[in-house]
Amino acid sequence: MAQFKTHLAGGMVAGAGVSVLGLFTYGLNLTQACAVFVIGSVGGVLPDLDSDSGKPLSLLFELISVLIPALLFMSFVRQEWISPEFLVCYFTFSYLFINYVACTVIKRLTVHRGIMHSVPFALFCGGIGYLLFASSGKVIATIAGLAVLAGCLTHLVLDELNSFTLKFGFIPWLKRSSGTALKLKSNSLATNLLVYCLIIIVAIAIFFVS
Ligand SMILES: [Zn+2]
Repeated sequence: MAQFKTHLAGGMVAGAGVSVLGLFTYGLNLTQACAVFVIGSVGGVLPDLDSDSGKPLSLLFELISVLIPALLFMSFVRQEWISPEFLVCYFTFSYLFINYVACTVIKRLTVHRGIMHSVPFALFCGGIGYLLFASSGKVIATIAGLAVLAGCLTHLVLDELNSFTLKFGFIPWLKRSSGTALKLKSNSLATNLLVYCLIIIVAIAIFFVS
């Protein structure tokens, strides 16, 4: 498995690429381009949500426990609810829920290099990226979804590239981890059904919000 820093760098490159494309081809403004860059970078480390330990994982959860409530805020919170006391409760409970409850559940339910290291999971994350930005319009939502997808796919490719080693110092050799990142399914039929169903649900949601 490639290191966290490598994945973060890969995600940043993917995010920057999509962001520049959006800036010059689709007329995004600088704030939008910056947001696309950030979520592309997050996409670059997302598949490692299934690794159970380490500081990078807690950093990733802390980041998404701030970003997700902030993005959902736009779609679900009504103007008349907003008050200092609401903001304190909303952000504190969202942070605690994602960082502790969701984190514990994901750690229990996932195995490293399971379905989160797969092309369908990358597609699912891209779809979620679209939905989170849907309130800003189709163009930015599509670019945001593409940035997350590009970040996730870059992660999978980097993990696969890391599956090569040199035997006797010069013979290219595949490690046992080869083929466990850039794949279309996991070993569990139930998990495969779940992830493909989630993709269909997200696709339907995209159809209805567009
Ligand atoms: Zn990985």
